[in-house]
Amino acid sequence: MSLLIDIPYCDKDEAKLLGAKWNPELKKWFIKNKSDYPKFSKWIVKGEGYTTILCDYFYIVLGVRKCFKCHKLTNVMCFAVKNFLLMGKSQNEFDFPYEYFHNDVHISPIIKSLPEGFLGFLNNKYKFYFDFSKTTGDSYFANHCDHCGMIQGNYYLFEEPDSPFYVDSVECASELNLFKIKLKYDLICDLDLSIGSDDYLIEKYAKLHDTDIVI
Ligand SMILES: [Zn+2]
Repeated sequence: MSLLIDIPYCDKDEAKLLGAKWNPELKKWFIKNKSDYPKFSKWIVKGEGYTTILCDYFYIVLGVRKCFKCHKLTNVMCFAVKNFLLMGKSQNEFDFPYEYFHNDVHISPIIKSLPEGFLGFLNNKYKFYFDFSKTTGDSYFANHCDHCGMIQGNYYLFEEPDSPFYVDSVECASELNLFKIKLKYDLICDLDLSIGSDDYLIEKYAKLHDTDIVI
């Protein structure tokens, strides 16, 4: 795996010294090895907080819930991630604050910065698209009922003990279906992560499926 990054022209010599390579086809710089990513944090991390780099693959997670409007069972989806790097801004050349997560699969309601084409696929196949929620008064990527089209608010999907994506037992985990989506390049993105102490159950008991999808 490798990571494509934007490096300003004036920084190219510095980036080259650190090991960045130029991809003439894509006209972009890339870093080949995951272990080198933190060296490039000053070009990767925007702002003060942490930036996430999603590595290798992620999952679409499918579950089922009862629509609160038409009361029929409808499919709902979210994401799950396993390998990712949390990276902060380095204060000096010896300090690269970062942590690489790779032990458990964690549920993620949304992965920001997914490619447009893939978002179109999610819209068509799963009725998952950006929409306004009257309940919370804001807009976000949301599930919609297969039957009546009503938005299925995130709170009822993630937060309550009987929510489909709230995992705290073998039973909850074994009801989930996870579909693997491979990444062509690691992805700098924003993860909306929920990390729970029972997350290890997901990989152990959920049904894991391979797909041919590479984005
Ligand atoms: Zn409905």
